[in-house]
Amino acid sequence: AYNFSAGPATLPTEVLTQVQEELLDWRGKGVSVMELSHRGPEFMEILATAERDLRALLAIPDHYRVIFCQEGASAHWDMIPLNLLQGRSRADYIETGYWSYRAIEEGRRYCQVNIAASNRRDKFCALPSFEEWRLDPGAAYVHYCSNETIDGLEFNWIPDVGKVPLVVDMSSHFLSRSVPVERFGMIYAGAQKNIGPAGLSLVIIRDDLLRTPAPGTPFLMDYHAQVLANSMLNTPPTFTIWVAGLVFQWIKRQGGLEVMDRQAQQKSELLYTTLDRSGFYRTTVKPADRSRMNIPFHLLDPVLDEVFLREAESRHLLQLRGHRMSGGFRASIYNAMPVAGVHALVDFLEEFERHYG
Ligand code: PLP
Repeated sequence: AYNFSAGPATLPTEVLTQVQEELLDWRGKGVSVMELSHRGPEFMEILATAERDLRALLAIPDHYRVIFCQEGASAHWDMIPLNLLQGRSRADYIETGYWSYRAIEEGRRYCQVNIAASNRRDKFCALPSFEEWRLDPGAAYVHYCSNETIDGLEFNWIPDVGKVPLVVDMSSHFLSRSVPVERFGMIYAGAQKNIGPAGLSLVIIRDDLLRTPAPGTPFLMDYHAQVLANSMLNTPPTFTIWVAGLVFQWIKRQGGLEVMDRQAQQKSELLYTTLDRSGFYRTTVKPADRSRMNIPFHLLDPVLDEVFLREAESRHLLQLRGHRMSGGFRASIYNAMPVAGVHALVDFLEEFERHYG
């Protein structure tokens, strides 16, 4: 079966097999990896290896720290203002779709949010061009989401915001291409797309942004304290971190982010070309701003939506239903989706069109 869910997403089969093999008896110790003490040498090694591999994949410079957080990506919408405002009252936010909007709503609890650019008037179908951004030089940071999972928009460029720290939610395209980490003050991503199972998020943050957070910040939400405690202010999600580490090693074995990038290009092109060629399906996002990971599409006539989903499922093409807000369909094709899965989907799209079009 091919699972096109936006998340929790498919994990590489090779990794799942490894998990199955090692779950019961970790390296002949007679205990499950889930039963290892998080302060013991075995888990410390798992954590250190995961961080080392992530650093190698993304070429993370030495003056950036990595935090393995228990919270989902959403919690950072609070943690970012709590940690990065540093007494300032204003922050810039870019609105490009559902997830960046959620960050804005949460940010408003802490500061004066300046929506420096928005594509709301364009119904989230194209990114606001950088010339339209009205950045505030007094902002504590600039927040944006570089891949809108629901709306299907992706930045393939990095905004130049000068000295103000650039903070990015990369949840749904993290590790699908290499990124110059030094262009960002902070990168964060939830795990359940390209990293591993749900229950973890990753933060990559520049040293100088690690300061005492706002008074009253819950201790687990203090980035600096988490760095000092090596992501272990409390019991970390050991199983999830272990699987994330296996995924990092899998990416390395595939050839690294260059290969993930090339495959993302190949897979998304295949799907978009099929959708564009047809007069039976439609997409809404401007071609230059289309996501390579999350591809929403519709039938011209939605009366066949349920038939489409039923027939897709009978072909083992799973979870293609669009988000409840946008309707239609969405194919999420993260790193673990093999090219063969996209071929199977394309074949089905063409056959469905031949039959009902
Ligand atoms: N940001 C983006 C881009 C997402 O796609 C999601 C979830 O899909 C979130 C944030 C929220 O993540 P979580 O459910 O881990 O809090």
